[in-house]
Amino acid sequence: MQEIRVELTKNPKQKPAPGAPLPFGTIFTDHMFIMNYDEGQGWHDPRIVPYGPIEMDPSAMCLHYGQSVFEGMKAYRAQDGRILLFRPDKNMARLNVSNDRLCIPPIDEELAKAAIEKLVSVEKDWVPSEEGTSLYIRPFIIGVDPHIGVHPAHHLLFMVICCPVGAYYPEGLDPVKIYVETNYVRAVRGGMGFTKTAGNYAASLKAQDEAEKQDYTQVLWLDGVERKYIEEVGTMNVFFVIDDEVVTPALQGSILSGITRMSCIEMLKSWGMKVSERRLSIQEVADAAAEGRLKEAFGTGTAAVISPIGHLKWGDDIMEINNGEIGPLSQKLYDTLTGIQWGKIKDEFGWTV
Ligand code: PMP
Repeated sequence: MQEIRVELTKNPKQKPAPGAPLPFGTIFTDHMFIMNYDEGQGWHDPRIVPYGPIEMDPSAMCLHYGQSVFEGMKAYRAQDGRILLFRPDKNMARLNVSNDRLCIPPIDEELAKAAIEKLVSVEKDWVPSEEGTSLYIRPFIIGVDPHIGVHPAHHLLFMVICCPVGAYYPEGLDPVKIYVETNYVRAVRGGMGFTKTAGNYAASLKAQDEAEKQDYTQVLWLDGVERKYIEEVGTMNVFFVIDDEVVTPALQGSILSGITRMSCIEMLKSWGMKVSERRLSIQEVADAAAEGRLKEAFGTGTAAVISPIGHLKWGDDIMEINNGEIGPLSQKLYDTLTGIQWGKIKDEFGWTV
């Protein structure tokens, strides 16, 4: 494996005071990881350097044609001071899935994991310890060829930046209001919905903006063809508890394979629950709600972990789920997952590193 060079900053920043608010994604640590790809040389020169602006040509490909992929993961401080990562191998594997779809040369997953571990240990004093806080880690890759023209880049950067964060939603575990998007679509099968690429998020901005104006937290996307089947929420996968079945949309190419989703499915199965990954129409959910069979709904994602959905709006149909309160399964999943992530309970699955 290539050696990761470390150049420490001479001007460390002031860290947020313990207990100070940590608005998501606004405060960055002292260092970042960077590695170059150049055709002929492959990925090379992995290094940790002081955090700061990077120079690139205004014609850099990623700025024009969106050849960029990213990941989102967290480091958690356990009560005994250890710093834990949650299933980092899954993030690196998913990064390579995104890379393949975007014609980005694959990264060495072991090297990338080692880079993240090294960066987090350099930044260990930036990992906050208050309840619900963590260090958010953002690996990303961008094509930087100084060339106007649509083709896969020959020169790329792989970087990792980190920010201490508090809870993702100001509401914490409180139920969120979600709005079913019937006008815009996010992704279609054959497109890039299963990847973490910038364009998917650009495609979501308009709907998100309109949802926020109506006081909704995020939108729930329907499939891009029939506009019938549930896909995922803005930055979360979604689960519905209908009677005794826990249902989540199957991975068919248009939604992201969330690591929290995967972990919830494994955990629910280990509890002996019936979990189905299948097609689920919004009509089926509305019918279940009308008949009193929709017990809970929740989103899953690294940022918010579990986000109970208390209110779901589909056209004129407004569904109040579990009286707008946190359901028992949402609470149990949240407690168990966060318990494992923050090292409070035994990690029987072997998920933390
Ligand atoms: N869907 C989308 C579109 C997302 O951006 C995310 C956040 N990464 C998720 C689902 C949840 O994925 P994960 O559980 O891996 O964070």
